[in-house]
Amino acid sequence: MGLPSEGANLSGDLMNATISVIAASLLLAAVMLGLYLRERQRRLQLGLKLEQAAQQMSIHLEHDRLTGLLTRSGFDVVLEKAVQKVDSSGGAFCVLYVALDNFGLLNDAFGQGIGDRLLKEVAERLTRCAELSTEACRITAGEFALIVNGGLAIGRSAAKSANSALTQPFRFEAIQTQVSCSIGIACYPEHGSRAKLLGHAALAMRSVKLNGGGDFCQYDLKMGLEVREQAVLVNDLRKALELGQFELFFQPKIDAISLQVTAAEALLRWHHPEHGLVSPVIFIPLAERYGLIGALGNWVIEEACRKAARWREHGLRMRVAVNISGYQMREDDLVERIESALQRSGLQPGRFTCEITESVAMEDTKVTQITFDKMRRAGFHVSIDDFGTGYSSLATLRRLPAAELKIDRAFVSDLEESEDARSIVKSIVSLAAALNLRVVAEGVETPGQCDLLVSMGCNELQGYLFSMPIPGDELERLALNNHRLKTVEFRQSLFATTLPTELDSSLH
Ligand code: C2E
Ligand code: CA
Ligand code: CA
Repeated sequence: MGLPSEGANLSGDLMNATISVIAASLLLAAVMLGLYLRERQRRLQLGLKLEQAAQQMSIHLEHDRLTGLLTRSGFDVVLEKAVQKVDSSGGAFCVLYVALDNFGLLNDAFGQGIGDRLLKEVAERLTRCAELSTEACRITAGEFALIVNGGLAIGRSAAKSANSALTQPFRFEAIQTQVSCSIGIACYPEHGSRAKLLGHAALAMRSVKLNGGGDFCQYDLKMGLEVREQAVLVNDLRKALELGQFELFFQPKIDAISLQVTAAEALLRWHHPEHGLVSPVIFIPLAERYGLIGALGNWVIEEACRKAARWREHGLRMRVAVNISGYQMREDDLVERIESALQRSGLQPGRFTCEITESVAMEDTKVTQITFDKMRRAGFHVSIDDFGTGYSSLATLRRLPAAELKIDRAFVSDLEESEDARSIVKSIVSLAAALNLRVVAEGVETPGQCDLLVSMGCNELQGYLFSMPIPGDELERLALNNHRLKTVEFRQSLFATTLPTELDSSLH
């Protein structure tokens, strides 16, 4: 009887054990499921966070932190889309490369804080003015790029409005400043593939900069070469002074009545080892643009005074005239530099003429006014060059310490054919008479022009008719040998008394 009940107990135990195992397994499974679900939730959250961080990062990568504009890589994405659109549905778009002129100088002058605020405002103005622009980006410190939907005509009109928006004054508390910008335009598909477009717009911008900035132009095939050539030339220009490659040529000014040589104008020449004699029309704007004009201008002043002192030792006492650039007029020690060069060479200040172009003289800024006042006190002879090409205000002209107006060559060359040129010369002569100034005509090439100018009342004449610009030693040799050069005799006696009468007595 014991056996069956033992067997029943055994199967009951087995059942219990099975149930326990099943229960434990279920529990384990439930725990595992819970763990799995928690892990899945955690992973989902982690994924979401990662995605958010990635988005955030790409916003940072594609947007400039200072201005909020696109960065270069953001711009690439937008450029790609614009190219795809034109490729599939036709049309055109332009890339505008906008570079602030002299941003580095502004940053140095006002500090980085103001520089940053200026960049922010530039970005705002660019996005505000450009209803035409779809996207704007900041490429480097003071350089921006815009995409404008449409062909070249629309690109040019957008460049015009960007230019005028940026030239409005910027005000930051007590500081008020103005900037100018150079803009290059490249059009897709006309001006190259997507990879070259921004580079071509930048080349066009650089070509504007090399021509003085403050303007815009569209890309041209020749530009790559021009910009490279100019860059090489600027490099050579930096070394030219040290290597002694400059020389002053001189061109005489002749008194219309006595035919005496009243002055010799110093005209700078660059003997380039490969290109030969390079014209100042090419290298002076480069020297101004790249900050080399200060040193070059000082060399011209020193050399002109040195030559004039030598002439004087040989009995040639005409004035020496030097062209002073706008940049030099803004230097605060220009007059002092000239004075010390004059002292070193023993020349009278009245024998030194500063030729300042009408456009620079009429700038009428505080700095140029101060320089003019100092020139008056120093007793220099001041000549307003290229007269007739700018917009002279009589009031400003009256305030200047000028003794001479120099009629621009353009009017002289048209004199025989154009009634307009004749009336301009007549009115310059009467204006000069009213202000008690002498009139010099430059670029006189023919006896006909000479006769007309004399009959109209010009006091002095200068031009190829009398002499080309020649090296200083040659001018001296011709004068000392009483040489007859073209239409005037270069007799020593003709180089003598050339000062305005009121100064003569004090010097002889
Ligand atoms: P500018 O001051 O108006 O000088 C007159 C220019 O006309 C000179 O050109 C001269 O060689 C040229 N010229 C003189 N007579 C005649 C003529 O009868 N016919 C024609 N067709 N041309 C004549 P250049 O020497 O090439 O100088 C060009 C300009 O470069 C000057 O114009 C002046 O603005 C600038 N420059 C020259 N030397 C200096 C300098 O030392 N410093 C600065 N800042 N500028 C200079
Ligand atoms: Ca001149
Ligand atoms: Ca001229």
